[in-house]
Amino acid sequence: MEKIEHIGIAVKSLKDATAIYETLLGCASYKTEEVISEHVLTAFFKIGDSKIELLEASSRQSAIATFIEKRGEGIHHIAFAVDNILEEMARLKAEGFTLLNEVPKIGADNKMVCFVHPKSANGVLIELCQEIK
Ligand code: ZN
Repeated sequence: MEKIEHIGIAVKSLKDATAIYETLLGCASYKTEEVISEHVLTAFFKIGDSKIELLEASSRQSAIATFIEKRGEGIHHIAFAVDNILEEMARLKAEGFTLLNEVPKIGADNKMVCFVHPKSANGVLIELCQEIK
């Protein structure tokens, strides 16, 4: 894996949270995007080489809605940039990690993504992401 690409934060209101993070980070969100397949609205901030992704559920089927119901707002996942997502998925699977999707999905911010079950990683949801070129 190359680096932490972004940290995902589950929020109740993207609008309210965006205002807070714009003040906190001293910069404007560079992108908002709806990921229909994941039922989320996202806003991205760039801080040096890393990003912050705010996530609001766009429907009750969203994993973000379930997360907030159970645990409240907060850090939802850590995403690592990978060069070859298929190779990393195969490597992690061979090492015994549980992948939440068997084939890469199209995620936010022009990425192919795969999630690793939090039970495999000490309670932290891990996202692998590879930039679509
Ligand atoms: Zn993410």
